Amino acid sequence: MSRAFDAVVLGSGVAGLCAATRLAEAGARVLVLEARPSGGGRATAFTDPRSGERVDNGQHALFGCYRDTFRFLERIGTRQLVRLEPRLSLDLVLPDGRLTRLAAPALPDWVPGAAHLAAAVLGWDQLDWADRWSVLRLAGPLRRAQATLRESDAALETHGHVRAGETVEQWLRRHGQRARLVDWLWEPLALAALNQPMQVAAAGPFLRVLAALLDGGPENAALALPVVPLDELYVTPSARYLAARGGELRYGAQARLMPGPDGRIHVQTRQDRWEAGLVVCAAPWHALPQTLGALAQGVPALMAVLSDAVATAASPIVTVNLWYDRPVLDGPVLGLPGRVFQWAFERRHLVGGATHVSLVSSGAADVLHQSNEALGALAATELATAVPAAAGATLSRTQTVREARATYSLAPGQPARPSTVTGVPGLFLAGDWIETGLPATIEGAAVSGHRAADAACAVLHARARQPG
Ligand SMILES: Cc1cc2nc3c(=O)[nH]c(=O)nc-3n(C[C@H](O)[C@H](O)[C@H](O)COP(=O)(O)OP(=O)(O)OC[C@H]3O[C@@H](n4cnc5c(N)ncnc54)[C@H](O)[C@@H]3O)c2cc1C
Repeated sequence: MSRAFDAVVLGSGVAGLCAATRLAEAGARVLVLEARPSGGGRATAFTDPRSGERVDNGQHALFGCYRDTFRFLERIGTRQLVRLEPRLSLDLVLPDGRLTRLAAPALPDWVPGAAHLAAAVLGWDQLDWADRWSVLRLAGPLRRAQATLRESDAALETHGHVRAGETVEQWLRRHGQRARLVDWLWEPLALAALNQPMQVAAAGPFLRVLAALLDGGPENAALALPVVPLDELYVTPSARYLAARGGELRYGAQARLMPGPDGRIHVQTRQDRWEAGLVVCAAPWHALPQTLGALAQGVPALMAVLSDAVATAASPIVTVNLWYDRPVLDGPVLGLPGRVFQWAFERRHLVGGATHVSLVSSGAADVLHQSNEALGALAATELATAVPAAAGATLSRTQTVREARATYSLAPGQPARPSTVTGVPGLFLAGDWIETGLPATIEGAAVSGHRAADAACAVLHARARQPG
């Protein structure tokens, strides 16, 4: 095996590429092995055979508070390919068909983010005063939760921010949130952020999402949408970044790890093998047994991680892409609370040349197994009922993307999430499912990637200081 690489990273999703480029930035030559024929994992794009358009495997929305994600994009030179709104502004069609906008007013930047959100809700003309008052009741709990943002769910319980086994819905009710606010604001936000119904998802991760959105300035709660297909945003640029620093991203290279000689790790693909001193495994939780199984034998800490990974449930997302003969939305995004498809994105407002609208159903367990025809018809009907321009347009085609394991379950009682450091010297874990305190998001993946890279860099530096 060649010793040309300082580190091997498994997986070319956000976590893997974040880790690899951070290591390369620190001077390491990095080999990334990706099992699939193309990169990006759960945040990727494909070419639609009929239209020739690049289509994301599901629309991804980022937020201004995605700090590690923006650091990653700055590193690879694509930060400008994400359009960040200056502050929160969302158009919604309520279940009864009313079009409304929830928007933070243009307050000075030094006014804290929480005040911007409070101002948005207080100024929302769809609420009465009791609704508005109820949102103010969250101010105290959220302020207190800020201090434990980076702590585990157990710490949130210990500090009394959430109760054992409490779901998002129970937490919102306990804090007096009124039905309209829950139905029109909190439920769609929780579904989008956690990819699970609020009756199922645990309160802790939601509390952290809220605290992160409200932390700092007004842009933290603002939407940030990529203006290129996802692979162009970070996969191709990462591959270029690595190649320029002596690294490589290799596709079709499903890797297995085994114990190697001299305390090194044996990395095996169908075609090649390497003995690596440093490995970052950024495969998703469900791929862990076949990736790490052999290495974990006799390492109790890693065996425990594997059995937790096997016991972790998944939650699906279904996306239906609709091709119309004309534009149907006034802006890039429209919220559709109370529907199966809760968000619509008109891609032409984001990506030049795209002519389709993407409808996203998060927490889609109930519809995952419906036929493509049924899902296409449901998405088109929901959009036409909410948006007159869609009702008047001709729908030429529908296309469905199912991601059965889009995210891991955040239901109370799920197995603990592992940390970056394993019981095996030189092996670090990354991925949105690592214990970052965040739900399964691009930002969770980016945080985990940076964390794994920093731990690996520390090992590299320590080895470099060793005599001989
Ligand atoms: C449809 C959809 C919509 C989403 N919307 C949003 C959103 O709006 N906002 C947001 O923040 N997040 C969203 N997410 C979540 C986000 O995409 C994920 O949290 C994130 O992409 C996970 O990145 P990752 O690198 O941890 O894992 P992955 O993307 O799963 O990457 C892991 C990679 O490892 C590879 N691999 C596995 N085993 C091996 C092996 N043995 N050897 C080599 N390679 C291996 C896999 O092929 C894969 O490419 C969405 C997810 C989906 C599916």
